[in-house]
Amino acid sequence: MSDRKFIFNPGPAMLPLEVLERAQTEMVNYKGSGMSILETSHRHKNFEEIILGAEALLKELLNVPENYRVLFIGMGATGQFDMVPMNYLVDGKIANYIVTGSFANKAYKEGVKVGPTHVAASTADTGHNSIPSKDQIKLSENPAYVHITSNNTIFGTQWKEFYSFGDVPQVADMSSDILSKKIDVSKFALIYAGAQKNLGPAGVAVVIIRNDMIEKSNQKLPVMLKYDTYAKNNSLYNTPPSFTVYMIKLVLDWVKGLGGLDVLEKMNEKKAAVIYDAIDNSNGFYKGHAQKEFRSLMNITYKLPNEDLDKQFVAEAGEIGLAGLKGHREVGGVRASVYNAMPIQGCEKLAKFMADFRKKNS
Ligand SMILES: *Cc1c(COP(=O)(O)O)cnc(C)c1O
Repeated sequence: MSDRKFIFNPGPAMLPLEVLERAQTEMVNYKGSGMSILETSHRHKNFEEIILGAEALLKELLNVPENYRVLFIGMGATGQFDMVPMNYLVDGKIANYIVTGSFANKAYKEGVKVGPTHVAASTADTGHNSIPSKDQIKLSENPAYVHITSNNTIFGTQWKEFYSFGDVPQVADMSSDILSKKIDVSKFALIYAGAQKNLGPAGVAVVIIRNDMIEKSNQKLPVMLKYDTYAKNNSLYNTPPSFTVYMIKLVLDWVKGLGGLDVLEKMNEKKAAVIYDAIDNSNGFYKGHAQKEFRSLMNITYKLPNEDLDKQFVAEAGEIGLAGLKGHREVGGVRASVYNAMPIQGCEKLAKFMADFRKKNS
């Protein structure tokens, strides 16, 4: 597969080649059923096996406690920006948001539309290059929940430690770092993630939700907006994006085959270090956006000495098969998204290109 590129897209992102090839093999005739999974009823036992298997495997890999469910919900992570406040911002309570980047701010703005909100901490003043410490977080009275964004896809910062807020349910958007390392799920009442970064193709948000939160779903909501609809029906109340769920199951099988999150976490640390070293050893030619202690292992953001060089860098990298490196317009520069499926060879090729480009242009 020498013509495949190293894809540094922020999402939809690179998928493991083994997963794509397995999907290709199974595409036309899934396990001798005489039909593609694309053509299979979501009520068929083959699909039921896939969706329940995906839930079980995600719980196993992430060490999710017994009293949680895994749900598959359409509308992406952005849909969760709405569902979380619609279900839990009730009874005069106040939703607390920690605003550490663009998606965190989008989540907050959706909360504002639903009910009273409070910004418990924000890193906007410093261009979202850090994560607040526990004592910088000031919760309101009567909090409905506290919402965090574990990895800031656009700015390239990541929470290195999760806090607990006592009885206050902690909700986390983990779209861009779920399954990249071990986490203590019990600190969270609800975790959600758009699938298209670390879990599979676009089309669903994966939601890991504690049973008491399922029970607290707001019963005044229409059926498709309540969490308990999905929990009671194993995410099969209506037709789910079945092919996406199938692909997620294949990705989870791949993670398990690698040896699980212990192995993956070390791989991700190594991969990111290759690129951060290239930044740090560049005599200031490349400037990282995030403060060092908050650097994301998933999205690596940096700038060259000027915007023309940023553009030239991205264009020349593209010519040698390093795709998708353009930074987000809010930050500029370069962003290398190195999710689980990016092989270390991609990071090494990028680091070498960075050194060569610097020599030629400084
Ligand atoms: C990509 C992303 C989103 C948006 O996901 P959609 O599935 O496109 O709605 C939300 N939050 C974070 C942290 C993301 O990285």
